[in-house]
Amino acid sequence: MSSHNNLGLHLRLKDNLASLVEEAQLLELSCIQFFLVEQKNHQYITFSPKDKQIFLSARQSFLKDVFIHSSYWINAASSKKDVFNVSRALLRREIKTAKSLEIPYLVLHAGSSKGYTATPEDPLGKTQGLQTLARMLNAILKKESDVTILLENAAHGSKTLGNDLNDFLALKGYLDFPEKIGFCLDTAHAYAYGYALSPIDELLAFVDKTMGLASLKLIHFNDSENLFGSMQDKHAFPGAGEIGQDMLAPFLHHPSIKGLPKIIEAPVSSRQKLLQIIESVSSW
Ligand SMILES: [Zn+2]
Repeated sequence: MSSHNNLGLHLRLKDNLASLVEEAQLLELSCIQFFLVEQKNHQYITFSPKDKQIFLSARQSFLKDVFIHSSYWINAASSKKDVFNVSRALLRREIKTAKSLEIPYLVLHAGSSKGYTATPEDPLGKTQGLQTLARMLNAILKKESDVTILLENAAHGSKTLGNDLNDFLALKGYLDFPEKIGFCLDTAHAYAYGYALSPIDELLAFVDKTMGLASLKLIHFNDSENLFGSMQDKHAFPGAGEIGQDMLAPFLHHPSIKGLPKIIEAPVSSRQKLLQIIESVSSW
């Protein structure tokens, strides 16, 4: 199945895992990402043993690469103690679910340094934010070896952590288990934040210095509705946004990242439209 190599899609979870599997099959995807939160009621999915079985057998047969995108309820760097504690419980819950579905990766946004003390050397208070994030990851990863958390770069400015890729380099200094952390590079976020995607060699050299290419496990292969450096996060279909095919295509073919799954986080669209996008991008 799937002639689309490592190209995949973010799918929306509707009623159960079986319908997610069916959707992946209809779209001929071997690579998907989804939230554990159901679209219709904004609650975590609960699945029956049978439903789980359907998913696990699809994992065996054709769903080669599967990623969970953690919910936006989680703020892993929060300066508020109650938010931090709730986030830790949710993160544990999502990891447990991922494990039960034999999904090895959970994508997580790094959060924000809102509420932390700014200093002349650190005007955004990012150091404390990153230390809090590290505290969260250290607590979670102490007893976890089946699921790798993938931190994703962000588009937004100011106190958002992980917009500047150097934040990840700083974070590593506070991690007890840096080998249990991986990264996800979102092309739209990088572009909107103000990273030139071309020449790709230069960008990947910087990614290697900060995230580390060996720790990069996933590309979010998105175009951007918003301008370069706008710090606004709105995805467009690959080739239909400000980045465009010429700058995006090298992310499919560059030898350093050729083998990595590339997931398109497309605007809500019909199955037909999605099939057309996948078809078109795989011919680039
Ligand atoms: Zn993304």
